[in-house]
Amino acid sequence: MKVHEYQAKEILRGFGVPTPRGKVTDNPEEARQICKEFGGRCVVKAQIHAGGRGKGGGVKLAKSPDEAFELAKTIVGMQLITHQTGPEGRKVKKVLVEEALDIAQELYLGITLDRAIGKPVLMASKQGGMEIEEVAAKDPNAIIKEPFDPAWGLQPYQARKLAFALGLSGDTHKKAVTFLIALANAYVATDATLAEINPFLITGGGDVIALDAKMNFDDNGLFRHKAIHEYRDLDEEDPLEVEASKFGLNYIKLDGNVGCMVNGAGLAMATMDIIQYAGGKPANFLDVGGGANEEQVKNAMRIILSDSSVKAVLINIFGGIMRCDIIATGVVNAVKEIGIKMPVVVRLEGTNVEEGKAILKSSGLAVIPADGMKDAAEKVIAAIGKAA
Ligand code: ADP
Ligand code: MG
Repeated sequence: MKVHEYQAKEILRGFGVPTPRGKVTDNPEEARQICKEFGGRCVVKAQIHAGGRGKGGGVKLAKSPDEAFELAKTIVGMQLITHQTGPEGRKVKKVLVEEALDIAQELYLGITLDRAIGKPVLMASKQGGMEIEEVAAKDPNAIIKEPFDPAWGLQPYQARKLAFALGLSGDTHKKAVTFLIALANAYVATDATLAEINPFLITGGGDVIALDAKMNFDDNGLFRHKAIHEYRDLDEEDPLEVEASKFGLNYIKLDGNVGCMVNGAGLAMATMDIIQYAGGKPANFLDVGGGANEEQVKNAMRIILSDSSVKAVLINIFGGIMRCDIIATGVVNAVKEIGIKMPVVVRLEGTNVEEGKAILKSSGLAVIPADGMKDAAEKVIAAIGKAA
């Protein structure tokens, strides 16, 4: 789960990570008042679940409360496009109005899981403010990495080593050490999968502050963090994915045109692979789960069909715990209810396969039966070609 910058900063503050003073609002008049409170200079920052807001025009400096009013008026409601939003952009609903700090240096800090070694790793770089992917591509040596044990947290000697490598000294070095340890504690304690501070700011006065904050959390750990779960913003998620999660379906929207209904995550991955192999592109990943019922299958079908980019559907089911006749009944009911005008290719195998095939056949629906996965993928792509 992702959260907004202002929420990530709220969480981090609770662990002693210094952040700028700031307040969130959707009201330009309130933005003016907040700016006044901060001494008449502030930064107005669009709150969306995507980075690169500055470049896209979603982070702007106001030199007076009136300017803060004007900026909030333009930014709230704008369709903000960044390299992370896709071409359609994201509608801004709120802005964070923050005190404007004087910037001596912008550094980079990030913590994520290194799957290869099975530990969180803290990454730091002197090249903050810009996209870290760019730094990694051009100058990988500019990123310092320090894995740490989640049971013990980032040790003081590790934090000191990192702060020295960032070229910090004196009081600023000491403050950075405290900052790094606090950030690592926050990452571990909240079951985060990402904690990124870009930029990690050194002010003219030598203070260290999180100027930006991005945190992602492990969905499987959210039951332990009710307060963080409350931060979920459904408007920032794909509407079809939200809908699917209501029925316990594992659905992820992709950008192809072959709608996929599959049981089991492994089979779903293999189905997407074979569609690509046959020259097509999947419109979604969908695992209806091992023990789905008719109702879930019907909803899965409805969700696939409400994606306007879907031109044909491939149903690939291996009946293990899941029985083929249940799938067939769910599909038939969904199609009868929604009315379907596109080709549907079905590959059924396993428990009650004959019953399943019979249900499809007697339904009178124009489904295209397939033998095996390769045949199914080729047939669905051929059907799209024919329809076009
Ligand atoms: P994004 O990464 O989405 O572009 P940031 O929060 O990193 O958004 O802001 C972009 C840039 O705006 C920062 O690199 C920094 O230079 C400037 N900035 C952001 N917040 C402040 C602030 N409170 N005071 C001064 N400058 C800021
Ligand atoms: Mg940033």
